[in-house]
This record gives sequence, structure tokens and C-alpha cells, in this order.
Amino acid sequence: KKPVIAIDGYSSTGKSSISKIIAKKLGLVHLDTGALYRGITWFALQNCIFEDSSIDLKKLFSSLDQIQLEFKNDQGELVLYLNHIDVSRQIRTNEVSENVSLVAKQKEVRDFLLQSQRNLAEKGGIIMDGRDIGTVVLPDADFKFFLTASIEERATRRYTELLELGITADKEKVKENLIARDKIDSEREIAPLKQADDAIVIDNTFLSKEGTIETILSYLQN
Ligand code: C5P
Repeated sequence: KKPVIAIDGYSSTGKSSISKIIAKKLGLVHLDTGALYRGITWFALQNCIFEDSSIDLKKLFSSLDQIQLEFKNDQGELVLYLNHIDVSRQIRTNEVSENVSLVAKQKEVRDFLLQSQRNLAEKGGIIMDGRDIGTVVLPDADFKFFLTASIEERATRRYTELLELGITADKEKVKENLIARDKIDSEREIAPLKQADDAIVIDNTFLSKEGTIETILSYLQN
């Protein structure tokens, strides 16, 4: 049976892009679970807004049953379709980044997403990245990694990543958003961002993407 691999860690430590490459190398599929929380946030921003333009959480909770999630395998990458729409681009906006941690800390939202994530891992052969994969979603994963890096380095990476998507951001704002999200994610009651006791911790502040991939592969191949 092919392995189930969990990669958790702080924002912009390269979890998703690294997971994607490892999945390709090993013939596994990859799911970026952050995209699920971002997708729900995008939906909320479209459909569940108070007059002051903040998210109406009660309305969101009662709308969750109208959200249909599908995952299409695009060359090993599991792409989220939300009510039949590929939201890959829409979920990377600043507006989504600024609201996602508030949405992700809600029990209703996490419960709604939990089973779909577990179902995808049932047959093995998957690498899933997020914040609570090794601790909550897949506690029995064959391998667990936890990535961390300095805040300066992470801000630079996210800024560059956004530029590559054609989004020009203010670097200080990017950094503030990472700090704010990590704080909410780490302090929330349900499934907080933290390393699993049995996770291998990798600080990649001074490691390239390739270096991080090599390090992870060395554990997987031993
Ligand atoms: O991975 P990404 O930075 O896109 O995740 C966006 C947000 O989604 C995180 O800041 C966190 O609030 C939430 N998230 C989560 N649990 C996961 C993955 C993401 O709460 N497994």
C-alpha cells in the first residue's frame, strides 16, 4: 500500500509546493487542505455578509449544506471544485487571506471539512498539507512532517509567490497577515496549529525548496 504523508506547519513554509513536487516524484496525489478553508471563505465572502461587510458566521453555518465539494485529479494534484467552480485563483486574494483564519477556527466549518479529507486518504497514496493533518485529520499517517521558518523568510516567500500569480502585494501587509493567521491558527480551540508528537520537524529558513524536498525524501526512503 502506498503511504499516507502529513505535512503541517506555519504559513508560507513551502508546504504546498514541496508536497506537490514530492507527490509527483513518488506517484502520490496531493491535497492542499488550506484551499478548502480558503474555498469556504471565498463562498462566505460571496454569500454570507453583514451590512458592515464582515462575514455573517451564522449564515455561513446554515449555508454549509449548500456547498458541494469535488476534487478533480489534475496530474496528481487534487483540485477543489466548489459547487462545480474551480476556485483556485479566487482563493488566493488578499480578502480571502485576511478572513480565512476566522472561518477556519469555527467548529462547524472544521466538522464540515473533516470527513472529505479523511475519505481522500482512505486508499493511501496521498500527501496532504495543512495545519492539523498529523494531529487531527490523519493521526495514523505513515509519515508526519512539521515545517517552520523565520517570519522574514516566510513573508518574502509569500510575497514572491503572489507576484508569480500576478498579484502585487504590500510586503509589510503580507508579513502582518502571516503573523495574524499563525496567531489565530495556533490559539484556536479546535485543531490548533501545532506539531504532532511524532512529527519530524524541519526548520527550512536556510534551506532551499530543493533542500527541504531532499530532506523529506531521505526520511521517506529509509
Ligand atoms: O495553507 P494556507 O496558508 O493556504 O491556509 C490558509 C488558512 O487555512 C490557514 O491560515 C488556516 O487558518 C486554515 N487551515 C486550517 N487547517 C488546515 C489548513 C489550513 O485551519 N489543515
